[in-house]
Amino acid sequence: MTNTIIDLHTHTTASDGQYTPSEIIQLAKEKSIQTLAITDHDTVSGLKEAIEAAKQQNLNLIPGIEISTHKGVEIHMLGFFIDHKNAKLVEACNEYELSRSNRAVRICDYLNRLGIPVDLDEVKTYAGAGAIGRPHFAQWLQEHGMVKSRQEAFERYLDTPRFKAETEREKPSPEEAIQLIHEAGGLAVIAHPGLIKFGKKNQEELIRGLKNKGLDGIECLYSKHEKKQEEFYMKLARKYDLKITAGSDFHGEKVKPEIALGVKLTPQRLPDKYYDLFMTTIQQ
Ligand code: AMP
Ligand code: FE
Ligand code: FE
Ligand code: ZN
Repeated sequence: MTNTIIDLHTHTTASDGQYTPSEIIQLAKEKSIQTLAITDHDTVSGLKEAIEAAKQQNLNLIPGIEISTHKGVEIHMLGFFIDHKNAKLVEACNEYELSRSNRAVRICDYLNRLGIPVDLDEVKTYAGAGAIGRPHFAQWLQEHGMVKSRQEAFERYLDTPRFKAETEREKPSPEEAIQLIHEAGGLAVIAHPGLIKFGKKNQEELIRGLKNKGLDGIECLYSKHEKKQEEFYMKLARKYDLKITAGSDFHGEKVKPEIALGVKLTPQRLPDKYYDLFMTTIQQ
């Protein structure tokens, strides 16, 4: 597997990514990515186009999703190898979309109360046909000179306790997301655990508890994890017999300039002793 490039966590215009599903497939080809998963936030609407494009380009595509869940803190659950036509999954995604568009109205009101004249219709044009998310508001704030960067938009407005208190939408529990992913024939993997606002001990408890509810894996290798964190999660994967996945969380350089497409699986990043747990080797 040495020097294999894969990416099991990417976003398209179906949620808050910059590129269409076909464009991401093209970019993955150009980067010699062997296996790509498209994991849009709370939607499967990009997968039909992605599957067709991947077939044409002869790229190994894993149909995926990233479901936002809530259990005291925000936890993202990745689903891989899902059937994007599964009726329950499609129905749940429709609900998520509605809850997102209702939240968008609250975000607008919230920003208006802070004296920012954000216009929802304009923000909607950024989202296009895709589900509306905070990065679309960050884009508006930046393009209208309210902040210098998208990061500043989150720090000042979109990721504060007050923002959460005034705009939070209802989200499924991680257990519900695992069940939904399984019903759609997929594997459920906890996304970027290093970003969950929890201590180390609580992390292990969370993962052990979710394993009992059917969790299949941990996204150990992630663009914003430090080496120490990656090692910690790979050890946990071994301890609880969970699969290991690797993803960048690519959204395109306009949305997240610091994240490039592709994860190189070097022996330093994924030591030999963990190969057997790596998800795609098991699946292929
Ligand atoms: P949403 O699902 O609409 O709540 O938005 C989630 C998106 O916002 C994800 O792509 C996150 O990476 C991004 N995001 C959340 N918090 C931050 C933050 N503090 N800085 C930058 N991006 C963030
Ligand atoms: Fe995102
Ligand atoms: Fe996420
Ligand atoms: Zn993501």
